[in-house]
Amino acid sequence: MVVTGGSRGIGREIVLGALARGARVAYCARTIGREVQELKEEAQRTSDSDARVLAVRCDVSQESDVESLFDATLDAFGRVDVVVNNAGINHDDLVISMSPDRWDAVIATNLTGAFLVARRAVKEFLARGTAGRIISISSVAQNGATSNAGYAASKGGLIGMTRAIAQEYGHAGIRAHAVVSGFVDTELTRDVPPSIRQALVETAPQRRAAMSSEIAAVVLFLASHRAWVANGEPIYASGGLVDAPRYVTEKRA
Ligand code: NAP
Repeated sequence: MVVTGGSRGIGREIVLGALARGARVAYCARTIGREVQELKEEAQRTSDSDARVLAVRCDVSQESDVESLFDATLDAFGRVDVVVNNAGINHDDLVISMSPDRWDAVIATNLTGAFLVARRAVKEFLARGTAGRIISISSVAQNGATSNAGYAASKGGLIGMTRAIAQEYGHAGIRAHAVVSGFVDTELTRDVPPSIRQALVETAPQRRAAMSSEIAAVVLFLASHRAWVANGEPIYASGGLVDAPRYVTEKRA
């Protein structure tokens, strides 16, 4: 399994969950830090399995980095069955204040990065006849969220890309999934003001934020062969929240 943005937050829980199931996992981030040691120890704790972890420094917006990520993974593990497009950033701004550079940065990581990873993965799956899975982490922001146009565009784009891949390669046994995550307390959401945090939680039918491990559990189910019947359509992991709440919009504007 390849997990982009596996060094912290939701991605780290996906890596941990996969290791606990005995998978061999390569993850990437722009900065690889102390988490590597913890993840290696976790892999060692997973007894009677060949669980292993590989950390690769890679900026998913760079095609050459993505190629190196796959080369390193194939060198270490020999094959790739699942890729998780989890790496993501957000630059929060109203449209009129959003500079093209900040817009481009969000699209480059969240959407172009996911495309580069998915494209490389599909080539690999087709070459080896693998029933591969491509799982991308979208967001309830994909339906539009104020101060979030670039992020919303990138997360909506992931759903379009997922449907396209499912259409193009379902015949080869390849599946594509988009997991629409609700609010999770991570470094990405660290600066979300308390009033908006509260609104996101209170408008969700389950009235609480998700934990990274809960999003990871959905991802890992979709990565399994038990989920073969799902393909292309977004899977919500948002406690029932479908859209970013409208009054959040009013508060932010
Ligand atoms: P996070 O804690 O900020 O983690 C983001 C991860 O992505 C880090 O490992 C980061 O490491 C990596 N990353 C960022 N840019 C990268 C790049 N260009 N190339 C490679 N790695 C990169 O964020 P999170 O909350 O766990 O979010 C994970 C995913 O879930 C994102 O796609 C996010 O949009 C999505 N999501 C989150 C929420 C939420 O409420 N938290 C809700 C819906 C969807 P480096 O900085 O070292 O590169």
